[in-house]
Amino acid sequence: MAHWIEPHPTGIYVRPADAWIDPSQPQERALVTHGHADHARGGHGHVWATRETLAIMALRYGTASGTAVDYGDEVRMGGVTIRYVPAGHVLGSAQIILDHAGERVVVTGDYKRRPDPTCLPFQPVPCDIFVTEATFGLPVFRHPDTGSEMDRLLAALHTNPDRCVLVGAYALGKAQRVICELRGRGHHDPIYIHGAMERMCALYEQFGVDMGELRSATGVPAKDMRGHIVISPPSALNDRWSRRLPDPITAMASGWMRVRQRARQKNVELPLVISDHADWDELTDTIREVAPNETWITHGREEALLHWCMTHQIRARALALVGREDEDEG
Ligand SMILES: [Zn+2]
Ligand SMILES: [Zn+2]
Repeated sequence: MAHWIEPHPTGIYVRPADAWIDPSQPQERALVTHGHADHARGGHGHVWATRETLAIMALRYGTASGTAVDYGDEVRMGGVTIRYVPAGHVLGSAQIILDHAGERVVVTGDYKRRPDPTCLPFQPVPCDIFVTEATFGLPVFRHPDTGSEMDRLLAALHTNPDRCVLVGAYALGKAQRVICELRGRGHHDPIYIHGAMERMCALYEQFGVDMGELRSATGVPAKDMRGHIVISPPSALNDRWSRRLPDPITAMASGWMRVRQRARQKNVELPLVISDHADWDELTDTIREVAPNETWITHGREEALLHWCMTHQIRARALALVGREDEDEG
């Protein structure tokens, strides 16, 4: 089935279009699902992606040759009709829908089904072959309700007015989502952000994501940050940068916080299970909904999902794509 689409360790090759999806090595023609570094690399000849993803790639790698594809637009490429539809993962994230020779393949990139105020919701598209991520492809991964995690964060802030809450959050997607979720729960105080995420937050704002008052944490005296939320990349949680904060309560927002050992390794006092990836129920519900003949699974932890597909009469295979995991992204 669909011999025109070929999984390789370095990406998925669409032969009649002579194009690669999320290639991990520079290619002449690249179709990119979203801006995270394990999907969007620099150095391609020409990139097709949403305008948000192109802007994110330009921020990270410098401006390159690209064609903006809006959600729902159709692009014809060597007899393949290509459409990008929302994946609900981060700003600009898309599933790539490919139609050729009477067959439809959907490549999700990363996705989730929960509401996210910073991006459009995942749109299920029935297909013959469904290429799904499985970052959290084990039944043990069931993400709690986002609102209850945000309430724990706000409770920690309000009961410790002399400290600050330092939240480790991935600089593309998670940080902006956490900020918007806080605003949605009535937290309108200024939020301090680490210098490394200022430009990405500004980019989100340019695309219409309103995050309220953000202040750079750079050069701010510790006492001014008391009673406030500070957001930094996960890598800055335990480095020298965080020592100048006022007695921080260390939090981290990631699906991996479900694993106690990971929270302990990073000295996280307040683990917040907030993920931009589908959990086990979202994965299996989505496969049921798009009802493919065949499922291809990426991002590791595929065993349980392979087994689940088998017991539901869906053919399935694991794709060994290289470099498809970033443990902080979660
Ligand atoms: Zn991603
Ligand atoms: Zn990914």
